[in-house]
Formats: sequence, C-alpha cells, structure tokens
Amino acid sequence: MPLPHPLDGHDRAWGALAPQIRDKYECGLDDTCAVSVPHPPTAAEERRLVAQFLSGLEKLFSRENNWTFLQPLLLTMEHCTRCQTCAESCHIFEASGRNELYRPVFRSEILRRLYFKYVKHGGLLSAWQHGEIELNWPLVARLIELSYRCNLCRRCAQTCPIGADNGLVAHELRKLFSQEMGIAAKELHQQGSMLQLKVGSSTGMSPEVVKDNIAFIDEDISERTGIEVRTPWDVEGADVLLIHNAGEIMAWPENPGAFALILNVAGVKWTMSSELAGYDSINYGLWYDDVQFARVALQHAEIARQLKVKKIVVGECGHAHKALCVIADRLLSGDLNVPRESSLTLLRDIVMSGRIQFDPSRNDFPVTLHDPCNLVRLMGVVEPQREVVRALCPQFREMEPHGVNNYCCGGGSGFAIMSGHNFPDWRFHVAGRKKLEQVLNAFSDCLEPETPKYLCAPCSNCKGQFRDMLAHYKLWEQNRILYGGLVELIVNAMADVKPGFIEWEWR
Ligand code: SF4
Ligand code: SF4
Repeated sequence: MPLPHPLDGHDRAWGALAPQIRDKYECGLDDTCAVSVPHPPTAAEERRLVAQFLSGLEKLFSRENNWTFLQPLLLTMEHCTRCQTCAESCHIFEASGRNELYRPVFRSEILRRLYFKYVKHGGLLSAWQHGEIELNWPLVARLIELSYRCNLCRRCAQTCPIGADNGLVAHELRKLFSQEMGIAAKELHQQGSMLQLKVGSSTGMSPEVVKDNIAFIDEDISERTGIEVRTPWDVEGADVLLIHNAGEIMAWPENPGAFALILNVAGVKWTMSSELAGYDSINYGLWYDDVQFARVALQHAEIARQLKVKKIVVGECGHAHKALCVIADRLLSGDLNVPRESSLTLLRDIVMSGRIQFDPSRNDFPVTLHDPCNLVRLMGVVEPQREVVRALCPQFREMEPHGVNNYCCGGGSGFAIMSGHNFPDWRFHVAGRKKLEQVLNAFSDCLEPETPKYLCAPCSNCKGQFRDMLAHYKLWEQNRILYGGLVELIVNAMADVKPGFIEWEWR
C-alpha cells in the first residue's frame, strides 16, 4: 500500500531477521518474530507442547473453563459464511498488500478446522465440510506468532454482517497459549502483569518512587503554568480516584501534571492512590490472559473500595478504560463494583461547565484527533473529546474515517511496547501504515515544517506507537508533526495559565 506525500516513494527498508534469531526461535510464519518461542530441543518436547495445546483447546470450548467468551467464540466458529467483508475492513490485511496470512479469517479458519476435528471430533464428513487439518508443532508455533499479528481492534467484527469476531479469535488463542502453555510476549507478561503485581507498576515504579516523581511533576507544572499544583494522595472518601497509565508519569509527565492542574482548578475532590497498582491503570491481561487480567482488575477495585471513593476515573489510556470500565464488569460485584468513568467525559464536563476561562487562540495550530480503538469503537466514547477539541482548537480537522470507523494506530493489543528483533519494523510498515496514511492526509494542507501540527491521541499506548512511528519516518524533524494528549491542549488554552504550555519539543 503506497503512502501519501511526503512519504511517497520514500519507504524505508525493512530489516531482515538475523540468521541466529531464526536458529534460536520459532520464526516460521513470516518475516518477523514477536513472541520469541525457543525451538523445542527434542521431538518428545514438541509432542508435550502439542498435547498441552490440545488440552487448552478443549478448555477454550468448555463453559466451565471459558465462561467469559465462549458464546461469541462459538458464534464465530459455527456461523462465519466466509463472505470476506471483514477482510476489507482490516488495516493489517490492506497495508500488507493483502497478504493472505493477515486476512482476518485466515487465523480463524485454522482454529475452526481444529475445533471441528479435535473438539467436536467430526469424522470424514466434517473434514469434507470444514476442511482437513493436521495438528503438529510447526502449526502450533506458527499459530502462536499469528495470534500476535492482530491489533485486537475489532474493526472486522464491527463490519461482519453476523457479528463474528476474528479479533476475539486472536485474543482467545493468546489466552490458550498463556494460560495453558505459559507462552506470552514477555513485554506483556513478565515485564507487564508480573512486574505490576509485584512492584506496583509495569514501569517498575514502587509507591515511594511514584510519589517522588509526582512531587517533581507538581513542582514543574506549578513553575510552567504559574498556578500552584499539588497532587492529593490516598484521600479517603474523595469523589474521584484518578488512575493514570503509569507510563505517562515516566514518559509524558506533562500529562499527569495537566490532569492535576485541571482537576484542582475545577474544584474536583480527587485523589491518587499509592497502593500497589493503585497508581497504574495498566492491565495487560486484557490482551492475553483472563487470570492475570482478573488479578489486576480486582486489585484496582479493592483499592477504590478501601478508600471509599465515589468513583474511579481512568486517565488517558484506552486499554485501561476497556479493562476496568467494561470487561471488569464480569468480575466486580457487591462493594467491589465501584462506579468507573472515563476521564474524557469528566474533562468534557469541566470544559463545558464554564468553571475555567479559555482562550482558544492559544491553540491556533492544526490539530487532528486519533480515536483509540478501545475507547471509541469498543466503548462508544466518541463525542466528549470532540466537544473539547472543537471548542478549544480553531484549526481542528478530522481524520477520515474517524469515530467508531477509525483505524488502529498499529500499536494496539500490546504492540506499542513490543520491540523484539525486527518487530518494530512490522509495526511501522504494516500495522501502523493505515494510520500513518490518515495522519498525513489530515495534515496534507500544512505539511511544511514552518507549521507546527498536533496529533491528539488520548491514550498512552497509542502515543507510544506514534512516538516510535513518527520518529521512524522523521515526521517531527522534517514536517513538525507532534503528538500528545487531550489535557495538554486544555491547559494550553487556559486563560489564567502562562502562555506556551505545549513546548513543541520532541519527546
Ligand atoms: S465478515 Fe463475518 S461472516 Fe464474513 S467472512 Fe468475515 S467473519 Fe465470516
Ligand atoms: S481485530 Fe483488527 S487487526 Fe485484528 S483482524 Fe480484525 S480488523 Fe484486523
């Protein structure tokens, strides 16, 4: 798929996998490697892994073991008509030049054949009807990688006439590999869920470190804006427990700083929590493992219960929104069912309330808005962020398509933090390509470097993908496209704040 100006004809070469990587890990699917599964040393070990897979496959289709997602999974297995409507909606399939491996139903078709043969024990007639397949280690190894070639954006499911969900198939496969075989991307499991549960955050920040960092941020924001900012900690009975993706505190400190300033000026009675995981809304289990997901979600809810807050508000992080506001609904009952709200609706209410004076001329530069899939398509939070940017950004322009028809940034489902071997090349050249096209088209009238442009992405993972992808294509250096969150635009337009909160520096 060709890219528009200024990247037309200037696509960079894609680094090949080194031979020693292929010697060590299972890389039989395509030209990259996401999960780094070592080759089994013996045939006996291969047989053991295949038996584990088969056991996990049976559990995936049993109500006792998979009560969460069995129904939509069965719908997808039993009723897909192979009409291929979904293929036309998948950015990965399109951007790859319609590589059959990335056709949304390709992965589902493999699982479907395995389901009819090994779970339903269909005979010859079933094989004739649904297709033959032989279960062996090379197939399982390729399927592991294939489950990490989908952003879980579910644009395909939205367009499917019967609601079959190929994104769910990728999710369920990842779950099988993690829960039954102990195989998951290390960035999501060891460096993600495990670190968060042990230390308090997948960033590695302990409660003491996070409080230090926030104190530093408060000081910096007070100096930059001329308004005294202090973040409240562990306030019992607060109206709002704000939980950021802790990556914001490390990588984009102006974001939590801007949140603190807005909430304080608006007079919201809010708090952050210094309990383990209470200051980090990340829940990577959403993407690969129901058990790890539940452990983190329960911890978030328990902290809110103990603090007796009126509600939890999730900062600018799409997957954290979906984890805590939607999927956790299946887990949280009784006094753990603390109300949860998106920060985007709260911010919209504050901006529209008239409690803060704004000067939109401070945001008089081209702004476009990225729709994080988890927040927008999968939760329906479409308008609040638009009301804010329409009110505060005179040169706002939409990407096409947008809202629930948006395209994923290419970093969804954990890819934004996965950077093993040459996987980032795949992220930038395939998974993120459609979004890159959208961004360039949105700014096509002002690509010259003299005009600074702002790509608003109210999601920490999306920002990570944009940071890496815009840097890869040198779009800041050469075209002055900066990315950032929504709260930064709000503070930049606040009339009582020193002008120039957005500093137009690459980070
Ligand atoms: S759109 Fe739905 S029914 Fe058609 S091929 Fe895709 S998953 Fe199957
Ligand atoms: S969920 Fe998204 S990335 Fe995955 S197959 Fe569907 S459209 Fe493609």
